[in-house]
Amino acid sequence: MQLIDGNKIAADIISELKAEVAEFSGRKPCLALVRVGEDPASVSYVRKKEKTAEEIGIDGKIILPPITISQQELESLIESLNADPSVDGILVQSPLPSPLDEKSAFKKISPDKDVDGFHPINIGKIAQEDESGFISCTPAGIMELLKRSNVNLKGKHVVVLGRSLIVGKPVALLALQKKAGANATVTICHSGTENLSTISKQADVLIAAIGKSEFVTRDMVKPGCVVIDVGINRVADPSKKTGFRLTGDVHFPSVSEIVSHITPVPGGVGPMTVAMLMKNTVKAYKMRTEKK
Ligand code: NDP
Repeated sequence: MQLIDGNKIAADIISELKAEVAEFSGRKPCLALVRVGEDPASVSYVRKKEKTAEEIGIDGKIILPPITISQQELESLIESLNADPSVDGILVQSPLPSPLDEKSAFKKISPDKDVDGFHPINIGKIAQEDESGFISCTPAGIMELLKRSNVNLKGKHVVVLGRSLIVGKPVALLALQKKAGANATVTICHSGTENLSTISKQADVLIAAIGKSEFVTRDMVKPGCVVIDVGINRVADPSKKTGFRLTGDVHFPSVSEIVSHITPVPGGVGPMTVAMLMKNTVKAYKMRTEKK
């Protein structure tokens, strides 16, 4: 069994980006990170993104509007960042506190600065196999993990558990694309799927993104399968200082015994998400500077 080490692969991507950014003349790439409220997970994610940007040589511009910001004020802020020539990428940290409407805010981000890849135009570009768009970071990270672990999806049966717009649907579309490294036969399962384990057992590559701790057990997986565990679940554990431990959507101890490759949680898909955000920011910078 080969453990797919997301920390190592993400670190490789970050050092490649650092070398690339060091060659840029003139201004540095700039990523605007907008965080509303003090949700502890969001605080820690934005801090991690800022730190990684700094490591690469990307200017991380943190914007912390008051929690009382209205939808209209938030959207005006996004519009001012769209118009700011010194900003290449804009990220609005999810989840936004209620009553702010996240979907509407994401749509306001200019598609050519939408480095999180949540704008409908960028999601549509995946379906069109148009590489000028931004692929959302977690699906892009999954494809990169597979590529760098020499897992070729060509002709394979990829089963995706979950159909969310940020993970399940885009990763299924990416695996389906008629291009090198992809070209798979794809099945998507969701909460309405009947006989899910009969389908998951047919997978050559199983991508679990449902948000249910250790849902995928050994009897649901074909021996020799490649398993990508996207889930990040907090399970109460009084023995931990934090009071919880992180688990994936896959029961790692039993499943890892029969698969050919598997990602751990933590240390699998998670670190790739930040690395791909940085990759998208550098892409946005290059697209904007090359246009001039
Ligand atoms: P969502 O809650 O948006 O989507 C979950 C999907 O799983 C839905 O399509 C849902 O079906 C399906 N589902 C839920 N329960 C079942 C079930 N019992 N059987 C089959 N399908 C089921 O989650 P996300 O896609 O946002 O995230 C999924 C997981 O990935 C979470 O644990 C999240 O924390 C993690 N995540 C990790 C990231 C990373 O960087 N590693 C980034 C993003 C997410 P239906 O559509 O029918 O409701």
